[in-house]
Amino acid sequence: MVIKIEISLRRKLSLSYILVVLICVFLISFLSNFFLERQFNNYVIQTRKDKNKDIVSSLENHYNSEGKWNYKVVESIGIDALENGLIISVKDLSGKIIWDATIYNHGQCENLITHMSKNMTKRYPNWQGGYTENQYFITYNLNKIGVVDIGYYGPFYYDDNDLIFLNTLNNIFISVGIISLCLSLILGIIIAEGLSRSISRVMNTAENISKGNYKERSSEKSNIKEINRLIATINNLAHNLEEHEKLQKRLTADVSHELRTPLTTLQGHMEAIIDGVWEPTIERVQSCYEEILRIKRLVGDLEKLSKYESENLVLNKANFDISELIKNILMNFENEYVNKNIEVVFKSYKQVIFADRDKITQMIINLISNALKYTQSGGKVILTINDLKEYIEINVKDNGIGISKENLPYIFERFYRTEKSRNRETGGSGIGLTITKTIVSAHNGGITVESKLNEGTVFKISLPKYDN
Ligand code: ADP
Repeated sequence: MVIKIEISLRRKLSLSYILVVLICVFLISFLSNFFLERQFNNYVIQTRKDKNKDIVSSLENHYNSEGKWNYKVVESIGIDALENGLIISVKDLSGKIIWDATIYNHGQCENLITHMSKNMTKRYPNWQGGYTENQYFITYNLNKIGVVDIGYYGPFYYDDNDLIFLNTLNNIFISVGIISLCLSLILGIIIAEGLSRSISRVMNTAENISKGNYKERSSEKSNIKEINRLIATINNLAHNLEEHEKLQKRLTADVSHELRTPLTTLQGHMEAIIDGVWEPTIERVQSCYEEILRIKRLVGDLEKLSKYESENLVLNKANFDISELIKNILMNFENEYVNKNIEVVFKSYKQVIFADRDKITQMIINLISNALKYTQSGGKVILTINDLKEYIEINVKDNGIGISKENLPYIFERFYRTEKSRNRETGGSGIGLTITKTIVSAHNGGITVESKLNEGTVFKISLPKYDN
């Protein structure tokens, strides 16, 4: 079983900062201590070697200038060496001691070695070191004239100044570590605080939205890209939910409103007949029957609308000749336009498109039936197809009643009917164009309308010819 521990963003961020700083401080002090100390040790060893060489060359120089041993000079070289932690003993080739630090400064030399050993064990508790001696020949005109034994605490040692230098370095690392830890803690808390404050405010908004307050929006401003995206997404979501809710409310209101009129008429007629006010004549029953047909048509339209508006309008695409299709549809309308004395013009030529044949049929039926519905007797309806390379354009033009400028922006909305068409009792429910637009959009096409009141209307539809 996996146990998930939940911790707040603030705590998580602060902990991460501390962890990163701890790792950095540890790494820096470890690496710099390691490399610096190695380098420093090399430096100490090299310095000691240089000092040895200096002692030998000082002794040779002095012999060279005087041609014999001068005890005073040798002594001053020896004391000088002693001050640097080196115990020297100068002998001539016969083994006779010219100057010896242990004789000159008896007892002090051992103290010197003990002090050095202490210095080293202070720094390295398990230090394994001890007194070491190196012998060098002293030459005069390329002839050996004596030897010098240089003793020291080996393999290397730190004098007091070296130790102070190393300890200061360590203290600097520790101080830097502590200061950066404190700074990172403060900085981490400040950043995490700002971040979590923004997120919790956005979260509150999201919670309010989930409770149904779709008007709620987040006005939070952040300089973090992801938070801004989250805010935009949540605001967008709220906007969509609000629109959806409005649409749903409007649909319910519209449907009940649309149903009320025919139902009230029916109720009135029936009551009058039941109460004996009206004779149930054929005409009256006929009128009731027409109201029932209106309700049935409305319900049918609603069914169609929900089918076409369902979000995943599945398209069953295939190649077909749209001209042929329009010709067939027009044939079915022939009775209607001949009876109404409307001239219908359509010059057909083969135009194949890749689309859903059934849905395109529905779209064209809606446009032709509107054109015939809203055109007076003696009028004219012209259909044309234009080939625009990637697209085709279908125009349905009539010289009918037209649509006023005020009504034009709304005609694609569901249940929208212009006053004129309501008064004319055309029998439409204001759903046909909504369905038409849904079909066009599903095909990635476009629909526009141009109209002038009492002059006529033209609907222009563009549809992609190929799969996209
Ligand atoms: P309806 O079923 O009422 O025709 P539509 O959605 O097809 O519903 O059309 C909406 C409204 O747009 C119609 O009620 C009518 O007022 C107007 N309209 C549509 N086509 C035309 C047209 N060709 N000429 C004039 N008005 C039209």
